Amino acid sequence: MKAATARLLTYSIVGGLAFVAMRATPPLPSSPSLKAPASVASLFDFVHRTANEITPEVTVAPLVVVANDKDRIDTLVVAGVIHSNLFNAIDKAAGEALPRGARNGLAFSLADIFEYRVDMSRDLQDGDRFHVLVERVEKPTGAVVVNKVLAARLALSGNEYDAIHFKSDATSGEYFDSNGRSLRAAFLRAPVAFRRISSFFGLRFHPILGRWRNHAGTDYAAASGTPVRTIGDGIVSFAGRKGGYGNVVEIRHRNGFVSRYGHLRGFARGIRRGTRVDIGKTIGFVGMTGLATGPHLHFEVLVGGRQRDPRVALRMHGGEPIPSHEQPTFQRLRDNSLASLLAYKLAGTN
Ligand SMILES: [Zn+2]
Repeated sequence: MKAATARLLTYSIVGGLAFVAMRATPPLPSSPSLKAPASVASLFDFVHRTANEITPEVTVAPLVVVANDKDRIDTLVVAGVIHSNLFNAIDKAAGEALPRGARNGLAFSLADIFEYRVDMSRDLQDGDRFHVLVERVEKPTGAVVVNKVLAARLALSGNEYDAIHFKSDATSGEYFDSNGRSLRAAFLRAPVAFRRISSFFGLRFHPILGRWRNHAGTDYAAASGTPVRTIGDGIVSFAGRKGGYGNVVEIRHRNGFVSRYGHLRGFARGIRRGTRVDIGKTIGFVGMTGLATGPHLHFEVLVGGRQRDPRVALRMHGGEPIPSHEQPTFQRLRDNSLASLLAYKLAGTN
């Protein structure tokens, strides 16, 4: 890897969004398996060394790994400022590096990685920023797809959310925050998967929906029939019709929270009072029963019987920590990952 020479392929700035891509040539020798690339730490060493050799302005370089004879894998940083939504931001940041399908795939991957911390359909604001270190795979056919996201940082309204992919002894690889706590938590932040919502309302941020009097709660526009998932493990305490809610499911969670899902077209099989459900399980389908002027999910979180803002009630401060004996390994990976991500400066930011 040390012998690889690098050349700058692309360096363009599009309206304040920068994209940098470098590729090392010639290709590196094959390693035996797609699932067993060289160690990440050594790859990051390569990033820093290569970047310094090229030019001080180019602070992050993709890595090149040839994992087998068929696929060519490299790694790149995609970073940008969000103005309208995540899709547009990724389009601008990676339009030259990734085809549309891969860009959408990257948006969905980010939503999945942060789904216990961030409601990607509602929590983004103009001026928020993202940095992602992601593997890019070029198939023998020439098709380009995104593989694993190695690290990411979201800066949303001044709050930073980090995700570091780490393979611990106990897991085959999952995401941890910068404190070494799993991003998995007791509750998902949204009752409808981001990819389901975005496919319906497209590029708009907050769909405007008809509202009934004394409306409180959060509305998610989605096509009629879109699956609705429970945000956490729990027991169904109500499934039936209830006034303006129409068909509604209520789930009582272990910590005493109740989540409520209204206007459903119908219930998932087996969902009735007393049914035990696991986090993420489909409990019903988006509809417009009750007082609704269009298909959407009406979602509430109740604490002690009172409605609470889900953004506050569901705020999570970290899941299971990495075992102490693995912390040093994780911390090295984290430091390298974040250094690589953040060495990439966005125009107009520090
Ligand atoms: Zn509503």
